[in-house]
Order: sequence, then C-alpha cells, then structure tokens
Amino acid sequence: MTIDFNKNKDNLVPAIIQDAVTKNVLMLGYMNEEAYKKTVDTKLVTFYSRSKNRLWTKGEESGNTLDLVDIQVDCDNDTLLVQAHPNGPTCHTGTDTCWKEDNETTFGFLTHLENTIQQRKAEGKPDESYVASLFEKGINKIAQKVGEEAVEVVIEAKDDNDDLFLNESADLLFHYLILLQQKGFKLKDVEDVLKFRIKK
Ligand code: AMP
Ligand code: ZN
Ligand code: ZN
Ligand code: ZN
Repeated sequence: MTIDFNKNKDNLVPAIIQDAVTKNVLMLGYMNEEAYKKTVDTKLVTFYSRSKNRLWTKGEESGNTLDLVDIQVDCDNDTLLVQAHPNGPTCHTGTDTCWKEDNETTFGFLTHLENTIQQRKAEGKPDESYVASLFEKGINKIAQKVGEEAVEVVIEAKDDNDDLFLNESADLLFHYLILLQQKGFKLKDVEDVLKFRIKK
C-alpha cells in the first residue's frame, strides 16, 4: 500500500475511523508515517496529535482504545479509511461517535420503507392504501399474512426459480415490516437483540 505522507507540508494524512461492524464514522484523526507504522504494529489505532505534538494512541488515558481491523488508502493515496473495533465510546465527550445521533447507521431503503409504512398507518385511509387496509384489519390478519408469505418462501426455496424465491422473500420482508409497525417496534429493535447476542 502506497501512502503519500509528503503531500502536505506537515507530513500528515487524515484518517477516517469507521466502526468495522456498524460502519458508523467514529472520528477523524491524522497520521504521520510513524503513527501509521505504530498502528499496524500494535493493532491499536495511533495518531499524530497536532495539539499534543506527539504520537497519540487513542484511549491511552481513557482506555477507550480502537482495535485495528483494516486500513485502506483512497484513490489518490492521501486519505486513510481505518476500520476498527471500538472499546467504549470513541469521543472524549462520552458518545460513541464524534458526531450527533443522526450519524447512526440506517437500513437505507428499508428504513425509507419503514417510514412509509408508519405514514400509511397514521393516515388511516384503507380505501387508498393496501398497507392502511391491513392495519385496519388488525394484528391477526397481519400476522397471518406474514405466516403465509413465510410458507411461500419455504416452498420457493425448494424450487429452482430464483425470481419467485426473491419475490416471495420481498413479500415476507414487506409484511414483516408491517407486523413490526403494528406491534410498535422498529427494525432497529430487532437489530439490538441480534447485537446483544454477539456480545455474549
Ligand atoms: P484518550 O485518547 O481517549 O485517552 O483521550 C485523551 C485525550 O485525547 C482526551 O482528553 C481528549 O483531549 C482527546 N481525545 C480523545 N478522544 C478524542 C476524539 N475522538 N476526538 C478528539 N480528541 C479526542
Ligand atoms: Zn484523496
Ligand atoms: Zn469527539
Ligand atoms: Zn407472496
């Protein structure tokens, strides 16, 4: 890997620190060649601190270290993307990231869909919306739909038709999102349960 440490007069390159699991951007620091080498050698993310004027291993006082997972250099060799596992909050203010809550991972299009479903429920126009009509029929009907779509996924899984399998998978996921909404939960709540299992 070629890193152009000499592009700037201060011989520093910015290093974006990303949580290797959640993909959240945690913080930004600067590395010189020595900091980079120390990071690779010790597997603990180490910067060159411009305020301390010395190498700074993140967490050296707080214990909130960053375990190195991977380093990539960008297209023109002057910025690093560092994937790490954080031990405790990364920001010295005690939060996970150096930015506000809205810097959390979302599920992209699935979050968009989740919001649309929530909106349809709130509007309550069953004549205009299939989703609203399901909410009107209630929890039993919605749960039943999830069961039916799950069975259809099972049936298509045994076949060779990828198109049908993917379509039934989409039906299942869609109706599952509706069921979650009906129960007052978010996809995030399910994610939290899964994450908690990893930690144990
Ligand atoms: P630490 O490296 O976590 O032991 O923190 C030592 C000092 O580094 C703190 O008192 C802060 O001044 C600074 N510091 C720690 N974390 C950050 C951060 N994410 N961004 C900027 N400065 C930080
Ligand atoms: Zn660049
Ligand atoms: Zn911070
Ligand atoms: Zn179906």
